Amino acid sequence: MKITDLKCAVIGQHPVVRIVTDEGISGYGQIESSKPYLKPQVLFYRDFILGEDPTNVERVMLRIRRLGAFKPWGSAVSAIEMALWDIAGKAAGLPVYKLLGGKIRDRVRVYNGGVRFPMRGSSPADFAENMARMKEAPEGFTIIKQGIGYHGQMLASDPSYRYGENITGARYPNRGPLTERGLKYVIACIEAMKEVLGDEVGLALDCGPGWTVSDAIRLARAVEPFNILWLEDLLTGDYTPYVQADLYREVTRSTTTPIHTGEEIYLRQNFTDLIEKRAVSVIGPDPADVGGIAELKWIAEYADLHGILMAPHGVLDGLIGLAALVQVSATLPQNFIAFEYPVARPEWWYDIIEGLPDPIVRNGFIEVWDRPGLGVEFNVSAAKAHLADEDSDFFD
Ligand SMILES: [Mg+2]
Repeated sequence: MKITDLKCAVIGQHPVVRIVTDEGISGYGQIESSKPYLKPQVLFYRDFILGEDPTNVERVMLRIRRLGAFKPWGSAVSAIEMALWDIAGKAAGLPVYKLLGGKIRDRVRVYNGGVRFPMRGSSPADFAENMARMKEAPEGFTIIKQGIGYHGQMLASDPSYRYGENITGARYPNRGPLTERGLKYVIACIEAMKEVLGDEVGLALDCGPGWTVSDAIRLARAVEPFNILWLEDLLTGDYTPYVQADLYREVTRSTTTPIHTGEEIYLRQNFTDLIEKRAVSVIGPDPADVGGIAELKWIAEYADLHGILMAPHGVLDGLIGLAALVQVSATLPQNFIAFEYPVARPEWWYDIIEGLPDPIVRNGFIEVWDRPGLGVEFNVSAAKAHLADEDSDFFD
């Protein structure tokens, strides 16, 4: 089998990768909805992989893997990797999880990072009320993640919460020390959310990046009585193009609260410092940023050897990304906690992808399916209605 074309269309806000072969099998991969600008980068790799046998996934990846970087520049390579596995599975007549070594669980736990309801305000009572709505969501999530601190606008709601100035605008990396009032406010919101959840639903917190090491330690120690599942991206993360494992190690060594990072990191090599130094307790690579699903599995196995837990990121990965997350998570070792459930945006994505269970999430879990490849397909006639003119030949 040979690759005859690599195509990319922006569907909704998601760049979608299609690898075409000479045997009539196509493979699909998907890039986060926050990155519609990456189509030219996907097409950059076309000439590197034409003529290769897509079922030799690793041999193809060796041609392009070094030509990527931390988020967002690992996304195109990652989506191509997913599409290669999709083809390899379809060619073998097997679900991708079989090619990754087989599943060790029949259903995978997901956590809620994307089913959201509007916040009325930013007081502890508002956080509690919002958490109550998420707890009642029909998916029956057993873990909910909420953004606090530098993640979102929480600290910008009152200038007395920080010593620094809040700069607004796209992705401005505000960071620095909190005032005592700011720290107490964050802790009060966490306490209010825990009162709603009790010990029935786990609470994870996406915190930054932007905290100072000493504030991070203060926060982590203050919330120790609440048995938080993890504090995510306190220091670096999101779009930070470096790791700073030694700083994370200092926080992790100072508290019993699990510390988490990793969604922006590209490739296994950039996880070795975090893992070998045991600088965090939980890592959360995103298969659509880290270099793909086999890359994610390797990292999970290496983390497991070092007593580190795994909770993959994925909220913006779309429905093909969801399929990839289900396939790989079925194969991860027992350090797997849950992956972040991607919600389709816009909602018409549910009408153009076939093969997902209905409902997708039951009691906080997704059943692992057995169809070949990633196990989802486009409803081509429905999907064509959403193609831009310049992408009109995407399915041809
Ligand atoms: Mg995050």
